[in-house]
Amino acid sequence: METTSPGNLVLGAGIAGISAAWHLQQKGQQSVILEKDDDWGGLCGYFVIDGFRFDRFVHFSFTPDEKTAALFEESSPLYAHPPVSYNYWHGYWLKHPAQNNLAPLPTEEKVRIIEDFVNRSRKEPADISRYDEWLRVQYGNYFAEHFPFAYTRKYWGHEASELETRWVGNRLHVSPLAEVLRGAFAEQKENFYYTTFMKYPKKGGFRSILDRCREGLDIRFRRKVVAIEPRSQTVCLEDGSRLSYTHLFSSIPLPEMVRLIPGCPLEVQEAVAQLTWTCGYQISLGFNRPDVAKHLWFYIYDEDIPPARVYSPNLKSPDNVPEGCSSLQAEAFYANDAALPPASEVLDRTVNKLKGICGFSDADVVMRDIRFEPYANVTFTPSIYTARERILTWLRSLNITPIGRFGLWDYLWSHQAFASGKCT
Ligand SMILES: Cc1cc2nc3c(=O)[nH]c(=O)nc-3n(C[C@H](O)[C@H](O)[C@H](O)COP(=O)(O)OP(=O)(O)OC[C@H]3O[C@@H](n4cnc5c(N)ncnc54)[C@H](O)[C@@H]3O)c2cc1C
Repeated sequence: METTSPGNLVLGAGIAGISAAWHLQQKGQQSVILEKDDDWGGLCGYFVIDGFRFDRFVHFSFTPDEKTAALFEESSPLYAHPPVSYNYWHGYWLKHPAQNNLAPLPTEEKVRIIEDFVNRSRKEPADISRYDEWLRVQYGNYFAEHFPFAYTRKYWGHEASELETRWVGNRLHVSPLAEVLRGAFAEQKENFYYTTFMKYPKKGGFRSILDRCREGLDIRFRRKVVAIEPRSQTVCLEDGSRLSYTHLFSSIPLPEMVRLIPGCPLEVQEAVAQLTWTCGYQISLGFNRPDVAKHLWFYIYDEDIPPARVYSPNLKSPDNVPEGCSSLQAEAFYANDAALPPASEVLDRTVNKLKGICGFSDADVVMRDIRFEPYANVTFTPSIYTARERILTWLRSLNITPIGRFGLWDYLWSHQAFASGKCT
């Protein structure tokens, strides 16, 4: 039996697993990280094709915590981009947030949006539990139905009426009438985003914010965990080996985690059946011209265009492309239980649509790739909180500490997934 000494095992070498092992190390404790892939970083990681580097989805850092920010900066010098993004809707480009920058729209559209905004029903957010109602109360019917309802279907794979609201927090801007009116005349310069900066490493892709923490950690690659026996405190790997532990930290997604442990109680199995999430395609394109990408990132509301969001790796850092080139990565999401369109179809359709939107031709494209991520976002249907609590309570009763976005089953940004590893 392969053994660990003194016995801390961390499952997953994403940011949460790296953080857990690093925090243990700070306390003088050793640990071993088991990772199924052959590289570290998880969703904060990257891949390179023909000299073009792509993160696994957009990824900027905007941690408000000074200590974490300093640790990331110490790992890797960072660019601080202003958080300026755009919205693409039926051929119009609206600065984000769209409701504050209606200026480019035809007069009749503006009138309908503003009229419904003024006449929207009023209710305290605390009294609203359904997301569709929250959107109608914040933005009025016309805007809600044409913008966030459509985006919800693309990003969350659900109707807004199927989601609850506690996840919203400061992620969506709530606008007073004066802001909506000002933006209907001219694009506003003011920043309405939830942060004033979007940080990104000058070199080495997003995951290099973790370079300092990763140093000296014992990460074992191609070690897929296929079973966990809490009674004997043993983990079984795909290659047939077994490891003992004294404490186990896991960032493995809850639906997978529960399947690894024999004897899962019926109520926990029922709770797992209630979890829903999105999966997604990353569609990555490299260009032999430096000027294809105009926006750091933008959202697409049109439902005949697969991606919900597109960003530019080369605008995040020129280190992400060969000299004289540029790149885009588009993100298309689906509900975990939806029939997934074939990758080749999504790739072709996305490229064809982006040609018109971003202004490039087939001759400009020197690299194209599509790959699938089985877990993107956990979905906030009304049953999530009780279902999640039941599963987490059971895991903790087995002396297993869940960490990370899918281990804790929460809408965590990378710095929050990092913070979840401090539990050691
Ligand atoms: C579309 C999208 C955009 C995002 N953009 C941002 C952003 O701009 N800024 C930001 O701060 N955050 C962003 N995030 C959030 C960020 O990616 C996550 O919070 C963070 O990466 C989660 O890290 P983690 O370690 O919890 O999980 P993961 O990164 O998923 O790590 C889990 C690890 O466990 C491994 N694993 C799984 N099963 C097994 C097994 N059986 N055996 C061994 N290993 C296993 C996996 O291979 C993986 O490496 C974004 C997320 C998405 C989906």
